[in-house]
Amino acid sequence: MSNPQVVAARIRGFICLNAHPAGCAANVDKQIDVVRAANLRDGGPIRNVLVIGSSTGYGLSSLITTVFGYGARALGVCLERPPQGDKSASAGWYNLAAVHQRAAAAGLSVETVNGDAYSTEVKADVIARLQRWGAAGKLDAIVYSLASPRRTDPTTGQSYASVLKPLGAPYSSKSINLGNDQVVGVDIAPATDADIEATTKVMGGEDWALWMRALIDANLVNTGCRTVAYSYLGPELTYPIYRSGTIGKAKEHLERTARALNTELQARFGGNAYVSVNKALVTQASSAIPVVPLYISILYRLMKEKGTHEGTIEQIVRLYRDHLDPTVKPKTDEAGRIRVDDWELAPDIQAEILRVWSQVNTENLFSVSDYAGFKQEFRSLFGFEVPGIDYTQPVDLDVALVPA
Ligand code: NAD
Repeated sequence: MSNPQVVAARIRGFICLNAHPAGCAANVDKQIDVVRAANLRDGGPIRNVLVIGSSTGYGLSSLITTVFGYGARALGVCLERPPQGDKSASAGWYNLAAVHQRAAAAGLSVETVNGDAYSTEVKADVIARLQRWGAAGKLDAIVYSLASPRRTDPTTGQSYASVLKPLGAPYSSKSINLGNDQVVGVDIAPATDADIEATTKVMGGEDWALWMRALIDANLVNTGCRTVAYSYLGPELTYPIYRSGTIGKAKEHLERTARALNTELQARFGGNAYVSVNKALVTQASSAIPVVPLYISILYRLMKEKGTHEGTIEQIVRLYRDHLDPTVKPKTDEAGRIRVDDWELAPDIQAEILRVWSQVNTENLFSVSDYAGFKQEFRSLFGFEVPGIDYTQPVDLDVALVPA
């Protein structure tokens, strides 16, 4: 080992400052196991895939599903921190290092570009690499799964910060203070027009469209290619902070982008562009949204009791099996969106959430919700509290993203 360390989680509220390489690798292994057990079409119709936002959350699961489920050759794009001295790498770095190792061991091919996906330089780098794949390397699937607090517009150089705010009126609700496990009231002031514009610039469809334009112009889109971007709608309970808030406006822009891309892909390639509305899950991005961790804690308890709980990997396996596998026709809602949030929004689950929501407080938080599960899953995102890992043992922090 070049840099052995005993690593303990350093958590500040909804941020974890470090990551455990062995725990992250174990999480990747669990996801690979789920994909293999799902018996997707190994060697089937998804041969080449690009995943933008490939290192954590829904994007990581999309990478694992296409590579280990379909045997696809993959290129992933992410923004992750390498290890530096006594500082661990970020979780996404260790996740992808494990993906690279497991793929190489299985004779599968994964490449990663670590850099700002919003930039022109990273797009050019990705295109140059894809061009080296040759005529048989055109993309059958393109997944857009970025979640970022900021974006610099490559054409103007202006930077934008996305915010999570309601529109029109202040919003008051309950939330969990993740620093001390207290249920607290939150009051969030409404967004300005500049907030809405900035959030749309970061989390809307502009960058997805730029990616697709660059890939189409470089002749890298295969006949029948399906591209998908992920979204969330959620229940009425979270509308003010999500669906009807700044992020909801950005997601509306994403949906308009999908419709425009779909028209072009259908006409030119017989392909499609979709927004897939996914379930609320513990990820680095969702933990930062006020109200949502409390909602997720109650949701997890109820869905686990009902036997309908899924993680990102189960969601993405279902998304591919039922909708994005090129041999199946996706089922869409009236707005043309794929919905794998259907089990979350089941009326019985949502009715029970409203009942629990009215009662939940600091004293009963752990009994009426699965906040313990939320906390465990949050730590596990960074490789901590993963079953089977001995955290008293030193691990090598200096893990290469791509094995030599
Ligand atoms: P996440 O934080 O786990 O992953 C974000 C990914 O984006 C990471 O791979 C990260 O490296 C990458 N990234 C961020 N900024 C980047 C940049 N500038 N350049 C390159 N890569 C960058 O997020 P997530 O929760 O999986 O969210 C992904 C998408 O899924 C988002 O569109 C989100 O709205 C959507 N979604 C999330 C949930 C949820 O509950 N988590 C539910 C439904 C939909």
